Amino acid sequence: MDYKIGVIAGDGIGPEITDAAWTVMTKVAQKFGHHFERTDILMGGCSIDATGEPLTDDAIASAKAQDAVLMGSIGGNTSTSPWYKLPPDKRPEAGLLKLRKSLGLFANLRPAYLYPQLKESCPLKEATADKGFDLIMVRELTGGLYFGKRHTESYNGVLQATDTLTYNENEIRRVAVKAFDIARKRRKKVTSVDKANVLDSSRLWRKVVEEVWADYPDVELEHMLVDNCAMQLVRDPAQFDVILTENMFGDILSDEAAMITGSLGMLSSASLNETKFGLYEPSGGSAPDIAGQDIANPIATILSAAMLLRYSLDLDDEADAVENAVTKVLEDGIRTRDILPREGADKMTIVGCKAMGQAVADRI
Ligand code: NAD
Repeated sequence: MDYKIGVIAGDGIGPEITDAAWTVMTKVAQKFGHHFERTDILMGGCSIDATGEPLTDDAIASAKAQDAVLMGSIGGNTSTSPWYKLPPDKRPEAGLLKLRKSLGLFANLRPAYLYPQLKESCPLKEATADKGFDLIMVRELTGGLYFGKRHTESYNGVLQATDTLTYNENEIRRVAVKAFDIARKRRKKVTSVDKANVLDSSRLWRKVVEEVWADYPDVELEHMLVDNCAMQLVRDPAQFDVILTENMFGDILSDEAAMITGSLGMLSSASLNETKFGLYEPSGGSAPDIAGQDIANPIATILSAAMLLRYSLDLDDEADAVENAVTKVLEDGIRTRDILPREGADKMTIVGCKAMGQAVADRI
């Protein structure tokens, strides 16, 4: 089959990690008889340098014409880069916010999986790490506190700031549907996280999630308060399969879930809209401190490409092949510097970004 894939290489390590992932995609195409047509799209600091804008209308139109978009990362050193002297709406990150909005990407998926080969990086108790965990966070991405009305006023010389948290039932329903659909492809359990003991928006969240659940009798649903979820993630993450939550809670909990794997360079993510279209990117940033040195870990981007195959192109066997190849690379003791074990590093084969991409491709 022919598929159109946009590639936003972006800034910093972005071009290196997307090229490594593309090596893997090319091997998938060869092995499974597909054709992936690559279209490069400018966004972030590189787009500011070329056009004066972090994301042009042409770039948005180009992204919309693809079946899916694979992204590296955008942004530079926030203290030293001239991009951060620009007004906020002209900075690299404004491009990403605009793209998410233009494409209607309302569901953010972030898997947190503890590879047995990397379990010593897990900062949790040994017994907890031994048990392992494999969860996916489904975060609402375009509503709630980050998109509500806000203002700062002065009352008698005292500054007061207000942010508002609003959700309508349609926004909750569509992200809940995504979470239940994903649970059906996994271990069939959704934990919906809210603060329903305090917030009206959370009470509506709970009501709508229950309504959606009625169509998924084969999936188990539990509700959990966000403060409890934050504790349970470090106490016993193995209890979770799919965690569904709103924007701000998801922002915080997905970073916590990432941290307990201990390996930022391994974590993929996807942002989806109502169609099959998605934007796929590693959870880390553009790592300007190591850019251009061929030492970045491309595995998170490679695993993001696997998610692209699974969720946008419905190519489950191809996605499995990529994920299995990553596991095989780890079993074979091949590591980038950031995922070296504390003990036994001398027994590992240390590779750079490009060679890691090739090592994964070779195992497809
Ligand atoms: P960062 O994630 O880029 O880097 C944090 C640390 O992790 C650094 O030491 C870096 O070297 C390391 N690291 C990150 N990815 C790695 C990889 N693949 N392999 C090996 N090591 C890796 O976070 P930061 O330094 O806070 O941010 C740098 C820039 O990235 C900022 O401009 C920030 O706004 C941007 N950023 C972009 C995205 C995105 O594109 N979605 C996300 C987060 C941050």
